[in-house]
Amino acid sequence: MSETPRVAIVTGAARGIGAATARRLAADGRAVAVIDLKEDDAQATADRIATDGGTAIAVGADVSDADRVASAVAQVAERLGPPQILVNNAGVIRDNMLFKMSEDDWDTVMNVHLRGSFLMSRAAQEHMTSQGWGRIVSLSSTSALGNRGQANYSTAKAGLQGLTKTLAIELGKYGVTANAVAPGFIETDMTKATAERVGMDFEEFKAAAAAQIPVRRPGLPEDIAATVSFLAGEESGFVSGQVVYVAGGPRD
Ligand code: NAP
Repeated sequence: MSETPRVAIVTGAARGIGAATARRLAADGRAVAVIDLKEDDAQATADRIATDGGTAIAVGADVSDADRVASAVAQVAERLGPPQILVNNAGVIRDNMLFKMSEDDWDTVMNVHLRGSFLMSRAAQEHMTSQGWGRIVSLSSTSALGNRGQANYSTAKAGLQGLTKTLAIELGKYGVTANAVAPGFIETDMTKATAERVGMDFEEFKAAAAAQIPVRRPGLPEDIAATVSFLAGEESGFVSGQVVYVAGGPRD
């Protein structure tokens, strides 16, 4: 570990997987910028990190807005130092069967996952390449392999795998790796919303999901955070352009 802590950005880190990842990276000794739509929500995660003895700031930004992304990354560089770790985690779902899916449902999902990861990666790579070290980790999903009711989301999550492989090829010579983590079923507000949409109690929904998972339990945000921690770490420099399925079993 370097003497000055490396600076990490985690998007969509007010809750769920992003919050657990921000806390894990802070526990690893990183200075963490917690980005989410509302600065107040991001501040709650930053406060928790500070209580645990870590360093964090909160920044409010919509990752699909190019101006907000540019100013958020500039603010992180000014307040914490040049970001060398980026976790593209912000995400939304707008599930529906294809025949009922609106253009807005499609565009919203593409904008947050794909445009957001593109804008954040483009802004952050400038700092990583000039430092000769960087880690970009993007959240894909087992839904990238196809999932009923998720034409928009599965397309975006498959797209992130293509983005990851191309970033790995373009940025490798500057000491920057790019990898994707593809979670299976993880207990968060996102899966709670899916249970509500299909009219199931969340506990029943989780039990049904667990029965289909080889390790017989749903994933926790901390399971994903641990994998991101490795891919964002000092010892993963020869791992790049990969998609790691973290799903309690083989899903690729
Ligand atoms: P979550 O609990 O819904 O949290 C997502 C966070 O992203 C929220 O804090 C949300 O803010 C924020 N966000 C949404 N749009 C944003 C934008 N335009 N700019 C900045 N922040 C934005 O989701 P999660 O379950 O932790 O999922 C995190 C990531 O893992 C997502 O990319 C998701 O697709 C992926 N994933 C999740 C699962 C799972 O089972 N949970 C499985 C596979 C992949 P608001 O609260 O203000 O909307």
